[in-house]
Amino acid sequence: MSGRFDQPTLFGGAQRLVYDEAVELTLQSMQAYGPTHDHWVFAFSGGKDSTATLTVIVHLVEAGRLPRPKSISVLSADTRMELTPLTIAGNLLMERLRSMGIYCEVVTAPLDKRFFVYMLGRGVPPPNNNTLRWCTRQIKVDPMTAALERRIGELDGSILMITGVRQGESAIRDGRIAMSCGKDGAECGQGWYQQVLPEAKGIRGKIATLAPLLHWRVCNVFDWLKIYAPMAEYGAWETSMVADAYGGEEAEEINARTGCVGCALASEDLGLKTVIRIPYWSYIEPLLGLKPLYRELRQPTNRLRKSGVERLKDGSIAANPQRMGPLTMEARLYALDRVLSIQAECNEAAIRLGRPLVDILNAEEEARIRELISLNTWPDKWDGEEPRADTPLDAVYADGSVQPLLM
Ligand code: SF4
Repeated sequence: MSGRFDQPTLFGGAQRLVYDEAVELTLQSMQAYGPTHDHWVFAFSGGKDSTATLTVIVHLVEAGRLPRPKSISVLSADTRMELTPLTIAGNLLMERLRSMGIYCEVVTAPLDKRFFVYMLGRGVPPPNNNTLRWCTRQIKVDPMTAALERRIGELDGSILMITGVRQGESAIRDGRIAMSCGKDGAECGQGWYQQVLPEAKGIRGKIATLAPLLHWRVCNVFDWLKIYAPMAEYGAWETSMVADAYGGEEAEEINARTGCVGCALASEDLGLKTVIRIPYWSYIEPLLGLKPLYRELRQPTNRLRKSGVERLKDGSIAANPQRMGPLTMEARLYALDRVLSIQAECNEAAIRLGRPLVDILNAEEEARIRELISLNTWPDKWDGEEPRADTPLDAVYADGSVQPLLM
């Protein structure tokens, strides 16, 4: 958008609003599909693509460019692990939309499935890219699917589900549209909404899904969030904080993909590192301690291990004898203490500076973690009697043969 005006601009005092090609295409796709559905439902993640989608569409309705459907619903995913500026901006946006008569609901995973409760209460190790990516589905996709099924069940008539999936123009031109997250700074979980939700039980056949910003490039998103959306003519949305979360002025170059603070799957905590470079948000720097903590928790000293051949129900031998498993109770209590200290350190500074508080682990979640630990809770197929994973053991091979420990 920026630098490519060949029409009269708002700055030139033109009367009518100026939309560039990207917004015009969005408008056209919404004009084609919007009016044929009674209700529009947004699966809102709080990230940049999702925020741009929601504010652009609501603006187009408010500006009279799109006919208003019977209802608009916004289901907002709260993973409890978002970057602080995104959490604050998301809350402000929900408040504003509610005041406009739009149905807004915050969707959070059930207590026992939340990131820290599942990890420190049940003992499941931090997610990784290989065999143990439990987080996206559990803290984002499943709760959103359940909430959508419920909301859609309440609505009579046809439903258009609007997602923030974005692939960029070149991907569309080259036919490279894939639903992975991480392309061109796309958000974790968004592609999943697109793929998983329409197949969900109770939703199937009842809804159509549309990604009206599919063709937007990352620069279109930032121009909207930083320049247009905050202007009165475009709705005066408080979206610059969202752009901040991606690095403010340099956001386009960084093209960061945010997700959870300390995302255990990202190679580095780029989103957080970018945010804390902005002086206003620098007080959340202690959150950088989360990622190394997850790394530490994955070490053998903090986990249990199956000691020998594991027989399955049918008598066969499990493929991976002596596999490493859950976090020890000591590791869980240590990690709980670390997370609470990190949060407290941020919040002492927040109070001193008059900034928003960090809330990644609240009193209810802490109490539940301690309760699950006191109830000696372990993941399925583990009972806590297994040796610690750094204990020297006889080697057991996949065929069941044993090589005694060499002393
Ligand atoms: S952002 Fe990272 S930690 Fe969060 S759900 Fe996605 S993959 Fe998991």
